[in-house]
This record gives sequence, C-alpha cells and structure tokens, in this order.
Amino acid sequence: MSNNISSNKKGSVVIVGGGIGGMQAALDLANSQFKVHLIQRETSIGGTMVMLDKTFPTGDCSMCMISPKMVEVGRHLNIDLHLRAEVVSVEGQPGDFKIKVKHAPRYVDPDKCTGCGDCEAKCPKRLPNEFEQGLSKRKCIYSLFAQAVPNTRAISAEHCLFLTRGTCKKCEKACKAGAINFEDKEKEIEINAGAVILSPGLDRYDAKVRGELGLGRWKNVVTSLQFERILSASGPYTGVVTRPSDEKHPKKVAWIQCVGSRDPHNANPWCSSVCCMYATKQSIIAKEHDKNIEPTIFYMEMRSFGKDFDKYVERAKNDYGVRYLRSMVSAVKEDPATGDLIMRYADEAGKLIDETFDMVVLSVGLEPHKDAAEFAKTFDIETDPHLFAKTSPLSPVKTSRDGIYVTGTYQGPKDIPDTVMQGSAVAGEAMALLAEARGTETVPKELVPETNVENAKPRIGVFVCHCGTNIASNVNIDEVVAAVKDLPDIAYVTDTIYACAQDNQEIIKKTVKDKELNRVVIASCTPRTHEPLFQDTIRDAGLNKYLFDLSDIREQCSWCHPGQKEESTKKAIQIVKMSIAKSRLQEPIKSEHVGVTPACLIIGGGIAGMAAALSLAEQGFTVHLIEKEDELGGLVRKLNSTLEGNDVQEFLESTIAKVLSNELITVHAGTEVVNTDGFVGNFKTTLSDTNVIEHGTIIISTGGVEYKPTEYLSSESNKVITQRELEKRLASGEQFNPASKFVMIQCVGSREEPNQYCSRICCQ
Ligand SMILES: Cc1cc2nc3c(=O)[nH]c(=O)nc-3n(C[C@H](O)[C@H](O)[C@H](O)COP(=O)(O)OP(=O)(O)OC[C@H]3O[C@@H](n4cnc5c(N)ncnc54)[C@H](O)[C@@H]3O)c2cc1C
Ligand code: SF4
Ligand code: SF4
Ligand code: SF4
Repeated sequence: MSNNISSNKKGSVVIVGGGIGGMQAALDLANSQFKVHLIQRETSIGGTMVMLDKTFPTGDCSMCMISPKMVEVGRHLNIDLHLRAEVVSVEGQPGDFKIKVKHAPRYVDPDKCTGCGDCEAKCPKRLPNEFEQGLSKRKCIYSLFAQAVPNTRAISAEHCLFLTRGTCKKCEKACKAGAINFEDKEKEIEINAGAVILSPGLDRYDAKVRGELGLGRWKNVVTSLQFERILSASGPYTGVVTRPSDEKHPKKVAWIQCVGSRDPHNANPWCSSVCCMYATKQSIIAKEHDKNIEPTIFYMEMRSFGKDFDKYVERAKNDYGVRYLRSMVSAVKEDPATGDLIMRYADEAGKLIDETFDMVVLSVGLEPHKDAAEFAKTFDIETDPHLFAKTSPLSPVKTSRDGIYVTGTYQGPKDIPDTVMQGSAVAGEAMALLAEARGTETVPKELVPETNVENAKPRIGVFVCHCGTNIASNVNIDEVVAAVKDLPDIAYVTDTIYACAQDNQEIIKKTVKDKELNRVVIASCTPRTHEPLFQDTIRDAGLNKYLFDLSDIREQCSWCHPGQKEESTKKAIQIVKMSIAKSRLQEPIKSEHVGVTPACLIIGGGIAGMAAALSLAEQGFTVHLIEKEDELGGLVRKLNSTLEGNDVQEFLESTIAKVLSNELITVHAGTEVVNTDGFVGNFKTTLSDTNVIEHGTIIISTGGVEYKPTEYLSSESNKVITQRELEKRLASGEQFNPASKFVMIQCVGSREEPNQYCSRICCQ
C-alpha cells in the first residue's frame, strides 16, 4: 500500500455510513461538484437520528430536521446511494482508490417499487421491529420507517417463508408493479474514488450484560432508545407514554445514568457524552406528554458541558420538577404482582434506599460496533485501544491512512450539532485533497422549463399533512380537507400521512402535472426546515418556486394547543384558508443569477481561523485573514501541551508558517473590520487600515477571552492565580516547592449568572 498522492485524482468520494454525519459530508461534497457514493448497511439512510423523538436542548423534532436532508440526499443527481451495502476492500492511493463494495440482495427491484405497501399488508410473517427497538412487530417485507429513503421495500431473507421453506410468495401476488425479485443475488462492484470518509457511527452498550438492572428480564425496564420510540408520535404507542408490560401510564419514571459508561472495570471507561442531556430531554418531554409523570434522574455526575446545556438542566429542575439524585444504583427488581420496579440505591451519604418506580429507563452508553476491529482492518486504519478510529487531537478527522478520513461518533462520542460540524469539516478535507478534480465526475442539474402562469386563472392544489399523528392527533384532518375543498380556485385537495417523505415528492410533482396546478399549498410543519424542500419539488414539476405557500398547522396549531382538538381544527382551517388566499395572489418571481466572488474573509487569526484559511486555500479559494493583534495564534499562543501530550507551540508555529507561505492567503495583522456591505456571494469590507476587500463569504472565528476573576482573593493575593497563569509558569520550567499544597477551584465565572454555561475545557 502506498500513501503517495496519485497524480490521477478522481473527483469522487466514497462515504461509509448514512447517518447524519455521512449525509452532511455527502451533501457538502455533492453541492461542491464532487460525485459521492454513499454506502449504507441498512435499507434506508438516516442512522440513529431518525429514531429520536426530539433533540436537546432546543426540543426540535428530530425527524423534521433530518427528513429534508434525507430527501435531498436521495434525489441528488450526484449522490449514488448503495443500500444494504458494505465495503470489502480499499486498494490504491490517496486521490485514486479502488473500493470493492458488496451489495446484499434486497429481493425488491428499486426501479419498479412504488412504495405502495401492498406487499407488506399481505405478508404473513411478523418479526420484531428493529427500528422500534423491538417494542412492536414488522412484516418480513418491510420499509424501515415511514419516511425511509429510499422507500423501496426489502425482504429479510432469513425469515421469509418462501426463501426459507419454498412456500408463500404472497407479496409477489400483491405487488402490481412486479417489483418482487426472488432471483436477486449478492453483488460485488468496484468504485474508483479519490477519497474515503468513514462515518459508521456507534452502537449502544448492551445493558443486558448488567443483569442486576433487569433489562430483558423486567418488561418495564427499557433502554433510552426504546424510550425515544415510546415518546415519538410515530412510535409504537403514538407518543403516549406507556409502559410495555400492561400499557399503563407510568407515574414514577427513573433514569439510570452511565449504564455501560465510565466503568473501566465492568464496561467502557469513557463518558458517552450525550446521555446526561438526552435523559434531561426525555424527562422534560415525558412530562410535557403527561403532566402526572414524576421523573427522577439517578446520576453520579451531570455532564452538561455544551452551550445552553446547564440552563436546560436548570429548566428541567425548576420548570418541570425533574428530580436529580446523585446516587449509585445497585439493583432493580420487579414486583411480579404489579410489574412495578423496586430500585436499590445508595444516596450521597451512603445510605441504602429502596424506592418503587413504574418504569425505569437505562441511559445506555455508546460504543464501537461489534465488527469494529474487522471494519478497521478492511480500511487498513489504526484504532485506539477501544476500537474508535485513531485520530490526532491536532487533526481530528484524519485517520492513520492518507486519503481516508473519519467523521461523527466513530471518531468519538458526540451529539448531533458536533457531528454535523465534523461532517462539513471532513468534506472540506476531501475537497482540499481532490481540488483539481472538482467537477470532473458530476453532472449539472437541468431544470425543466417553467410553466407560464401569466394571466392563468389560479388552480390551487392543497396537501394537508397528518405528520404521522403529530398533527392528526390534535387536528381533524378530514375536517380541514372538507372545509377548503369547495373554495374558489381550488383544483385539488388531499391529505397525506407524511408530506415530506421522498415518495410524496414524486406524488406532488405528478399531481401538479396531472391536475395542471399553478399554485401549491402544503399544510404541515415548520417552513424553517421544509419550505426549501417543497419549493424544489414544485420547481422540478415546472412551477416557479414562489408559487408555493406553507401553512404551519403543527408548531402554530396542533403542538401549541394540546388536548383542544376542536379549537385546533378550527384554527388549522383558518390557517389553511389564509394560505389559500395568499396563494391566489402569488406571482412568479424571477431569480437573477449574479456572479460570486470566490474569496473568503476570515475574522480572527486563532487556530480555528487559520485552519479554515488553510482548508479554503487548499481548495483554491482566495482568503483574507483579519487579526486584530499583531501576531496570529490567539489563545493557543499561551498553551503548551494538549491533554494527550502534543506540543501545541510546535503545531502553532507550523500552522502559522503554512498560512504565511500560502499564496492564496493574505494576512491582515493588527487590523479590524470597520464596515461590511453587500450580500451573500458579494460582500465588500472596509478594514481599519482603509483597505477595501471584495469577498463572497465571511467566517467569524473571534474566539473568546478568559474570565477575569475578582472572587476568591484573586485580586488581592498573588498566590491565587488562573489556570493560564499556572500553565505559563509550568511551561517556563518554574520549580514549585514539593511541600506546597495546591487547590484548584473549578467553574470560576462559569455555570452561574451571567455566564450560565459550562466552559467545557477547564476540567481537562
Ligand atoms: C437514545 C439516544 C438519544 C440521543 N439524543 C440526542 C439528542 O437529543 N441530541 C443530540 O444532539 N444527539 C443525540 N443523540 C446522539 C446522536 O444520535 C448522534 O450524535 C448521531 O446520531 C451521530 O450520527 P453519526 O452519523 O455519527 O452515526 P449514526 O447515526 O449511528 O449513523 C451511522 C450509520 O452508519 C451505518 N453503518 C454502520 N456500519 C456500517 C458499515 N460497515 N457500512 C455501511 N454503513 C454502516 C449505520 O447503519 C448507521 O445508519 C442520542 C443518541 C441516543 C443513543
Ligand atoms: S414491492 Fe410492490 S407492493 Fe411492495 S411496496 Fe413495492 S411496489 Fe408496492
Ligand atoms: S414470500 Fe416472504 S416476504 Fe413475501 S409475503 Fe411471504 S413471507 Fe412475506
Ligand atoms: S454523558 Fe452523563 S450519563 Fe453519559 S456517560 Fe457521561 S456522565 Fe454518564
């Protein structure tokens, strides 16, 4: 194997893993003219995020955030999806890899399947539903979930009555599209690509190993992911908090933290980083679903280290009455008569207490997949001792093999925002490697000509979405449809279970054409995530995208008036009528294309600003790096070593040298921005040295400053110093008297007003 970079670079990238990390990297690359092959083991893309109900700390609907991205990935001309697929080998060198990919048979022809579900209705074989974490059953021919991308069905061969016993074929008889193909075979294909990105995510710790906690033994002990499905309106209990043994509404619900994490003797030694926050989220949402629930979180240490996380925990305590109990749980036992759970724990004083709960949720940690060692071997990359991809703190998305990068939780446990950020970062690395080959393997999108609607009488199509039960449980959808169907200019009205599902985009396009619609109204959820999706859909059908209006009947109606179905329905009708009235008056808006200045202004020459500058310059863009100090480096100038022992000053010097020697980067030191005018793609900025710069984008990386303490005698005694002063004195070689006693006071100026957040780095 050679790590020399090929002179014959390919303009394509293979991404392994179709969770949010892999999808973000795929979209960034494909939207920047790189061909993407997205290899996904399951039958749909989406990963863990599609199974979550809401996300912390904002309480956004997880599916609403990811579903438009899934549709965009699914219909992107320059992203090829390889489902039920895995990489077998990677040969070659950075810039020019040959990747063998094995496709397991699906037994359903994706080009013929319309996603109608007729086969599923007739299939007699029922299996535990893995998407619902075993809380419900699915058929042997199935789609992973309602908004799956693609929505092509697949057959679980090992359970199919025909494939195992030679009798049945009920799905084949039911399928009018002739899509069932029992002759389907495993295939191996070879892809030639310039770089590989690994984003296989993580598995959950198998808490059945901790027999004393009762998972798998006591029905009302569930995992945190099972509880996500219990909370979800599209889940097995339609979002009504229900305990599995008897479908009773639980009152006292306990969360046990750190299950499988931070336990070097019996499980994994690392912190899984998301469970403190997801337990807080789940307890808040459970309470929102059922105000009688009394949540208790049993924890050893609460890790609320992100922006606004501390506030979130405070809100859970103060506004929702969530009880946080620092304790050690030793066992959970079932009362066989009631199905209730008796939990034994030691409180902070060490006192043993038995307390009864209706339901217990195990906050299971994250760990590499069972096949992680084999996976690393396939790609010939090094792992750390726990089988995460090995990376350096100074280049966190590079693996040990050049041209192969890593993103998402396989690099280390992290939440969705950090995963998305890293997805974009890794795409930037691949783009820098393959810059010369940009656009060599992609095809441009050909837009169909726009239908001329000038002087045409409005023909409005209305689609009213159930959003599973998110809207339908609190708004009578039939009544909304009936109330608007006879309004003037209405050419078509229908309801739909999930307007945003990929197959629905095809249905909307077809309806626009078949019914000759010239205006479209979709009554669904928030325009923030969904408006661009639906606008693209009607544009693909030949309508100007501004002939669209979205009526938000979820955030503005079903969600904000829980339990008031009649009033919500009336309000939904008014909202949709207003949209229709607006739609009648809508005119096409012509988009003008203006050139973009291919230069970026970066404000702040710390390590983040410099890393961004180098990445952009390596991709061929001009960069202006503005630093108000006379020297580059920012906060890092005062640091000496990372936790892992890397020499920070050496890294800083080499980064500064690269920045200063790069012809595409102009450093404006001792300079500040005075004024910026213009718009995205074309900005004009005046600097304090009177220079005026034209640029298309701006990156702000001005960092922060150390809190200047006044408390703890810090302004009166020279024996009270900050961590940074200590670091400086240690680095200067100062010898401290071994008999001296030191005390570190944590959280000074953090996690209290006015800085009600964790500063994240001081503990380390
Ligand atoms: C119960 C629970 C609640 C959570 N709640 C939140 C929350 O509220 N907010 C938040 O920010 N984060 C939350 N998280 C964390 C969040 O789920 C992760 O940060 C995020 O999903 C990571 O995305 P990913 O793309 O790295 O991995 P994943 O989402 O796991 O996706 C990886 C994908 O790769 C596929 N794959 C694996 N191996 C292979 C292979 N060999 N070949 C091809 N494909 C493969 C997998 O099938 C999977 O689809 C929660 C996690 C859990 C478990
Ligand atoms: S396989 Fe046939 S019956 Fe099943 S969803 Fe696809 S088209 Fe419909
Ligand atoms: S042949 Fe298999 S997949 Fe088809 S209906 Fe029968 S059991 Fe289900
Ligand atoms: S995030 Fe919280 S629950 Fe999860 S391992 Fe870390 S400390 Fe434990």
